[in-house]
Amino acid sequence: MAAKFLIVGAGFSGCVLANRLIKQLDCTIDIIDERSHIGGNCHTSRDEETGIMVHHYGPHIFNTDKKEIWDFVNSFVEFRPYVHRVKARVDDKIFPLPINLMTINQYFGKALDPKQAKIFLSSLADHSILHPTNFEDQALAFIGKDLYRAFFYGYTKKQWGCEPRELPASILKRIPVRFNYDDNYHPHPYTGIPVEGYSAVMEKMIDSPAIKLHLNRKFFPGEQHEEYNHIFYTGPLDTFFQFCFGRLGYRTVTFERNVQDGDFQGTAQMNFCDETVPYTRISEHKHFTPWEKHDKTVYFKEYSHETTPSDEPYYPKRLDADKRILFDYRKKAATLNGFSFLGRLATYRYMDMHNVIDEALHFATTFAQAFKTGKPLPVFPNIEDSI
Ligand SMILES: Cc1cc2nc3c(=O)[nH]c(=O)nc-3n(C[C@H](O)[C@H](O)[C@H](O)COP(=O)(O)OP(=O)(O)OC[C@H]3O[C@@H](n4cnc5c(N)ncnc54)[C@H](O)[C@@H]3O)c2cc1C
Repeated sequence: MAAKFLIVGAGFSGCVLANRLIKQLDCTIDIIDERSHIGGNCHTSRDEETGIMVHHYGPHIFNTDKKEIWDFVNSFVEFRPYVHRVKARVDDKIFPLPINLMTINQYFGKALDPKQAKIFLSSLADHSILHPTNFEDQALAFIGKDLYRAFFYGYTKKQWGCEPRELPASILKRIPVRFNYDDNYHPHPYTGIPVEGYSAVMEKMIDSPAIKLHLNRKFFPGEQHEEYNHIFYTGPLDTFFQFCFGRLGYRTVTFERNVQDGDFQGTAQMNFCDETVPYTRISEHKHFTPWEKHDKTVYFKEYSHETTPSDEPYYPKRLDADKRILFDYRKKAATLNGFSFLGRLATYRYMDMHNVIDEALHFATTFAQAFKTGKPLPVFPNIEDSI
């Protein structure tokens, strides 16, 4: 008899998992999502007023260095090449990001070549900081006071809602400084945007008589579902356990929508680094599809703030206290029968789309093999890097 599975969450994690499970097991799948649409936080649809494809939960650019992931997403819909070039506004001047040779030369009014720029930046760095333990020290040790104050201090303070010296040094390790003029924000070899948006990718993934999608349907913790052989949960881990060990910390984002004629800022993303500007960035969505022509434009100002129980969780904070709580939830999850947890919310990690797709692909295979052979079923995809 065919197995019956329930997947909670119709984002990339849930949809990739469903797509793969029906190929590897004799099964039917119900996917439920409490929202009124497919796509999770990657949901896109055309703005009614302007016709522009809007990324409702913030701008999303698909990028990966794995050809198999690129081929996988391209097997469902057409992606077009897109190069993300981010600009930063600092003291009413515009600079390219990530910090590169153009940023350094423009900011300091110089014409340095790569070798000279390295020496120059090293002369600005604070070499007295030998073992940086926080974000601020890491930045000062690496790029010095001027670039740090201009490009990182205000932006980081707004994004995380605290002094950068209260954040772990590990956050800055991910921000590159380039000693050439490459301002392509995502240097992965495979980068693009789906022509009809991300929700269309996921609709195609689950287009099968064996999969049924139920929108506006919430999964409540403790619900009994004896009709299913197994339940895959991609929602927030702390919600699943009714916050018994406390809430995992997240930052959230509020979007302020604006419409006008023509072109508002001439680019897809402008970061506002000054602390005095209340929003962190403005994304203008028609620039994500440069092959389309629109007379009007729609853009969104992003305000970052602390998550209240009614907000969408966006960026996991992963402070030490969060990691201790996460450890307790993971231990408790491992004692359950009939549940697996995957995706950015259930594993409490910041993950790009290519990360969740990659993980769901592998998890489906591991699960299917264990299910077929009667071996213990995997609970989490990230077993080694558990916290
Ligand atoms: C502002 C922002 C910008 C980003 N930009 C990029 C980018 O440019 N490139 C990139 O690769 N990645 C980007 N990401 C990351 C990307 O959004 C995630 O990788 C992706 O959304 C994760 O998919 P998921 O399925 O794991 O989770 P989600 O997309 O969050 O899906 C989980 C789903 O579960 C549902 N759900 C939760 N609880 C329940 C419940 N109890 N009952 C029913 N349904 C439930 C939710 O409604 C949701 O639809 C960005 C993220 C943010 C926050």
